Amino acid sequence: MSNRVTVRQLIGLACPKCHDDACLNLILTTWASLSADRTQPFGDPEWDQDAPCVCKACDFSGIVADFAYTQVQS
Ligand SMILES: [Zn+2]
Repeated sequence: MSNRVTVRQLIGLACPKCHDDACLNLILTTWASLSADRTQPFGDPEWDQDAPCVCKACDFSGIVADFAYTQVQS
């Protein structure tokens, strides 16, 4: 038994091909302060339904909307 909250439970995303939800990579949008020396991100990163998303378990790629976990639990 594990009490670990999964990506599927928390965010509602999982791979539509292999159903893995622990190997998803996606492109985030986040704020960052710029200076000549470095770029310092701050705040919570966000993404939208059109952000590119890849499953590293099976290499399925698409957009976040493709990974929406819609299976109804009965
Ligand atoms: Zn997959």
